[in-house]
Amino acid sequence: MKEEDLKKYEKLLIARRDELMEQLKDRKKAIDTTIKESTGDISSYSYHMADQGTDHMEREKAFLFAHKSGRLLYHIEEALRRIRKGEFGKCHSCGKEISKTRLNAVPHARYCIECKEKEESEKGRGR
Ligand SMILES: [Zn+2]
Repeated sequence: MKEEDLKKYEKLLIARRDELMEQLKDRKKAIDTTIKESTGDISSYSYHMADQGTDHMEREKAFLFAHKSGRLLYHIEEALRRIRKGEFGKCHSCGKEISKTRLNAVPHARYCIECKEKEESEKGRGR
């Protein structure tokens, strides 16, 4: 893939990442406020929350993965890493280049359209 194309996808991915981060930040703020309010009122609750606090990073990760946008964020980060490693745009399954049409629609795509469709039809067969 050409350098200028890579730059274009990198920009696209970074823009999407920033957008998602904003969304997640807002949602997290809302959750934190809810926790604070409930710990202020119910004493049995505050013990529970303090306990969970020891695993803050785990909770953070669980939070991210609990949301669709969090998982998407992960895939975008992975795609950005592939750009830096020079592996971007190759199908993880067959190794062929992923078409630009597909990358324009889904810049973090890991599989070419053929492999993706194959995977989906196999899922459809009840696997
Ligand atoms: Zn493929």
